[in-house]
Amino acid sequence: MRSLLDQITVPAQTVSVNRQRGQAILTPLQELASVSGRFLHSPIAHSSGRSLERFVFVGQPGGGDPINIGIFAGIHGDEPAGSHALVRFAEVLHANPELATGYKVFFYPICNPFGFEHGTRISQSGKDLNREFWKGSAEPEVQVLENEIHSQKFKGLISLHSDDTSDGLYGFVRGAVLTKSLLDPALAAAEQFLPRNLQNTIDGFAAHNGIISECYDGILTSPSRLENSPFEIILETPQHAPLQRQVEAMIAALKSILAEYQRFLAFAADI
Ligand SMILES: [Zn+2]
Repeated sequence: MRSLLDQITVPAQTVSVNRQRGQAILTPLQELASVSGRFLHSPIAHSSGRSLERFVFVGQPGGGDPINIGIFAGIHGDEPAGSHALVRFAEVLHANPELATGYKVFFYPICNPFGFEHGTRISQSGKDLNREFWKGSAEPEVQVLENEIHSQKFKGLISLHSDDTSDGLYGFVRGAVLTKSLLDPALAAAEQFLPRNLQNTIDGFAAHNGIISECYDGILTSPSRLENSPFEIILETPQHAPLQRQVEAMIAALKSILAEYQRFLAFAADI
């Protein structure tokens, strides 16, 4: 039988291992923020005593107001590829700042800190946070993200997920009409690294070329009443694929989305 001391020390070790999971994401982002004049660390405190980690890459001005884009990862704590992809994407933008010209790219690398630290989908109170949005949720992570979505007036929201039931890449589109024409080339770019899921039904939804046009209720999106709907993309990588491949596929997709949306804006300005 374990002594009382063992019972106390085991959880303490577990806590420290769990913290390391988050630090593996946050430390490189914080280090980059400390050396980059364009990459800012600005966490947001919330009511639970925790904070929502936020980093912002401020691109060179592009001739108009900056275009705010939000990228959200780790809302399901057992899908770490998106969080790792955001570390890598910050490094990519730091090395190639022209990719972010005209943009302010908001990084939310760990939207569900408890789930991330414990390797579980759910929040501390046992909720799937990606079913809680715009329903008056009491979950502090949801409240702070809803507030961000309201106040930052994003032109695009991109959520990064991994699906352990899919053998290929796919995504959900919502919001602005052009969203599908952003996701298709993004999936094509990501196919350099992983195959696309071409099934007619994915995750219970009708799909066409890896694109699904409906989604679950309560997911992290803009509220439907928002005027001038932003583009909204939920990108899913096959979770059983090697982590590095998932990360590379996500980076290729993110680069494509920024480039295609810039092209769209330039075209719209010419009309
Ligand atoms: Zn997910």
